[in-house]
Amino acid sequence: MTHIHTLGLPRMGVQRELKWALEGYWKGERTAAELHGVARALRARHWALQSEAGCRYVAVGDFSLYDHVLDMSARLGVVPARFGWGGGEVDLDTCFRMARGRAPSGTPAFACEMTKWFDTNYHYLVPELAPGQRFALSRQDLFEQVEEAKALGHRPKAVLVGPLTWLWLAKAQGDFDKLDLLDALLPVYGQILARLAAQGVEWAQLDEPILALDLPQAWRSAFQRAYHLLQSAGPKLMVAAYFGALEDNLMTAVKLPVAGLHVDAVSAPDELGQVADWLPATKVLSVGVVDGRNVWRADLDAALARLTPLRAKLGERLWLAPSCSLLHVPLDLAPETDMDPEVRPWLAFAVQKLDELAILARALDAGRDAVTEALAESLAALEARRASPRVTNPVVRARLAAIRPEDGRRASPYPEREAAQRARLQLPSLPTTTIGSFPQTAAIRASRRDYRAGRISQAEYEARMRAEIRHAVEVQERLGLDVLVHGEAERNDMVEYFGEQLAGFAFTAHGWVQSYGSRCVKPPIIYGDVARPAPMTVAWITYAQSLTQKPMKGMLTGPVTLLKWSFVRDDQPWRDTAMQIALALRDEIHDLEAAGIQVIQVDEPAFREALPLRARGRDDYLAWAVQAFRLATSGVKDETQIHTHMCYSEFNDIIAAIAELDADVITIETARSNMELLDAFADYEYPNEIGPGVYDIHSPNVPEIEAMVKLLQKAAERIPRERLWVNPDCGLKTRAWPETEAALANMVAAARRLRQPLPERF
Ligand code: GLN
Ligand code: ZN
Repeated sequence: MTHIHTLGLPRMGVQRELKWALEGYWKGERTAAELHGVARALRARHWALQSEAGCRYVAVGDFSLYDHVLDMSARLGVVPARFGWGGGEVDLDTCFRMARGRAPSGTPAFACEMTKWFDTNYHYLVPELAPGQRFALSRQDLFEQVEEAKALGHRPKAVLVGPLTWLWLAKAQGDFDKLDLLDALLPVYGQILARLAAQGVEWAQLDEPILALDLPQAWRSAFQRAYHLLQSAGPKLMVAAYFGALEDNLMTAVKLPVAGLHVDAVSAPDELGQVADWLPATKVLSVGVVDGRNVWRADLDAALARLTPLRAKLGERLWLAPSCSLLHVPLDLAPETDMDPEVRPWLAFAVQKLDELAILARALDAGRDAVTEALAESLAALEARRASPRVTNPVVRARLAAIRPEDGRRASPYPEREAAQRARLQLPSLPTTTIGSFPQTAAIRASRRDYRAGRISQAEYEARMRAEIRHAVEVQERLGLDVLVHGEAERNDMVEYFGEQLAGFAFTAHGWVQSYGSRCVKPPIIYGDVARPAPMTVAWITYAQSLTQKPMKGMLTGPVTLLKWSFVRDDQPWRDTAMQIALALRDEIHDLEAAGIQVIQVDEPAFREALPLRARGRDDYLAWAVQAFRLATSGVKDETQIHTHMCYSEFNDIIAAIAELDADVITIETARSNMELLDAFADYEYPNEIGPGVYDIHSPNVPEIEAMVKLLQKAAERIPRERLWVNPDCGLKTRAWPETEAALANMVAAARRLRQPLPERF
């Protein structure tokens, strides 16, 4: 019999039960026992889903109350000193304080850093390693969950972040090689595995996605050593690699002294044959055959064609799984009853993906005839998708084919544009601006809810949004900002807002995906050629411009961000989808310019995040990402100023591409790094204008004038001051008005103070 299993499931529940339970607990409205009750119920439901789908083993340990990397750190006793943990069991509130800085009990301390899990939009908490870090088994949650699963009649497969991946993701606080800590770390992993074995756990899955990265030789060698030590500790070990091809790590992976290997056959289908050839004849091969990162129904016939020879070769040693944990897709399609009925049958969420695995396993075991109907249904959906006129739009195709190189170039080089823009905009030196959004107040959100529920008319909704815009403009005028924004009151989200107005996007009602902790996003689904049936932002922006003599920035989300924060179609390269989005944005920018808008910002906060994990793929990605941005923004006149904004970005390895975007102004997040991020721009002699963020918008604290003056002086040591702008790190939508006004007043004062010694621009 061919086993099916999953590396993990989404945690939140279809109604985001976990979110509400967590937030209730943090606010003191629910007890820890109530929170644990919700968590237990969710786990029970998720195990039942797996066992109903035909999984012999259910995943235990993939669930987390906040983050699985944090759970692993807690188990290993890696708690930074500032949390005052004195050994013994790391309790729930200590975990929450590490994650959020505070919890119902314990002294607040600054939270651990959070960053993206490989190239996904899931954020994990970065483990911090002190010099001479010690490790000790310090949290029993996994063992308790194993008992819980057993009590419900399941066979648990324990899921853990593997030791090499955990260590790779950790940050050494000091000058030492963290790999040196491996020997101290492994005995605790050994203890955990021994405990699991004593509980009767047959399999433990150790996630080692770093096997899909370019690894230094020392790390590659460490794999052999580590797993040699762990193999005898207890259960059979399955090392799980995903998010890409193994490539130069392939021999390391197949030779590991463990009982099983999981590979990602969705992102690396061509490697599968090689893996099977080299895998020793005793090992289980888990093939990640349905896409754990995307929402499309699998091509079951293609999968069977690939799996049949493997089944013949491996027999029962072949297991089937999603390519990676299903954490990255929504849980269940069934509740999406209001969804676009044509698109819905093309999709498979986590529950449906388990069903697909079951169909494949049955076909391999009992022959295709055993699942004729299921295969036919799947094929029909696939064919409907391929043939749908909603997927292919000949007008878009023709436009794409007709793109000329000059469409991606501004009419004149930057120095000429700069002169034209100065003459037109008449800005002072060190011009002040903001990144786009102003506080999304409870009143704004209530208006949106009322409008969507039909409780207020469109006219009433728009009137309320115009009032918000008017207020934002008044505040900015009063504070003396130089380039204004309309404040984005009418936008629920910077991706969904545009997706809803573009052809080729579909939406779900419950398609939540965890971003971090209790926070979820509901990514749109790009299913077809993207086109812009009508202007999207022009009416709002021109209204805002009509209220002021100062320049009003048009505000758009860029092609890479619209693509990366959606579920992207898998039937054409990302590049093609990005170019289609770029054309739609190009039209929008054209319309904004024609309506008299002089400054237009195209946000690309996901630009860095979409960078391929392996160095080999990066040039290609950067080339099309730059091309898409330029295609969107190059159709304007010299005197129209194009801004872009990026945040959470490390720029060192992409600075050349950033320069190639040829935006007239880029605003970036730098306040927390103390302007160090600017070094990349200075070293590269970045040619255009830069607005390094002078204060961190993530905190409600009002920044002091003096602190911002200092930061600007630091910036001016790196970037010529004629090319510096003054702005916060990012948009202000999560802030409240009073602190926003106070912070911006200080920011304007800081800019003015620095303007004095120099003559005004001109
Ligand atoms: N214009 C957006 C805003 O201000 C940019 C958000 C972002 O960079 N993530 O909210
Ligand atoms: Zn930002």
